[in-house]
Amino acid sequence: MEDRINQENWQAIINNDTAYDGKFIYAVRTTGIFCRPSCKSKPPNKENVRIFQNAEQALSAEFRPCKRCKPTGGRLPDHEWVAQITHYIDMNYRESLTLDILADMCHGSPYHLQRTFKRIKGITPVEYVQQTRITKAMEYLTDSDKAIADIAKAVGMTNTPYFVTLFKKITGHTPTDYRQLNSNKHIMEVLHSGSKK
Ligand SMILES: [Zn+2]
Repeated sequence: MEDRINQENWQAIINNDTAYDGKFIYAVRTTGIFCRPSCKSKPPNKENVRIFQNAEQALSAEFRPCKRCKPTGGRLPDHEWVAQITHYIDMNYRESLTLDILADMCHGSPYHLQRTFKRIKGITPVEYVQQTRITKAMEYLTDSDKAIADIAKAVGMTNTPYFVTLFKKITGHTPTDYRQLNSNKHIMEVLHSGSKK
């Protein structure tokens, strides 16, 4: 997969912006070499640049990694590491998931996990866990008659009052209000589509 170069990526390349490392890599057709956005090598001609999402894609397009910025690194690129972590959370949000547990599972320190995850996703791992749980809870509230406490448990939160507080913080509604609102909305849609016929 290959993306056309956009203004944002181009700015990152010419500014050697480290914030974009792990978000994409760029290859230069004329040299056959690919780099991290932060590479201090001479800026290429824009029309010769190809953007890839990661080093693997550039390698499979037969570009070679730059010796200076070492875009393949010795270890997993951060964005892939973070993708593995989010996948793990998506699959295991029902379990107890703290930063320490996630760091352990992903073979990193909690500090490194926190920083890397936030840089790539814009939120912390724990915030991502919370969002995943609340999104699931929203589905349960609209698609099932489960009691609030059962829904809380089903999304990995055994403390119902805390679940209610977090739900309200993220959605702006209590779970009960949210369910009510959506059932009303559903009725309105049914009525509305009925009246059109
Ligand atoms: Zn480079």
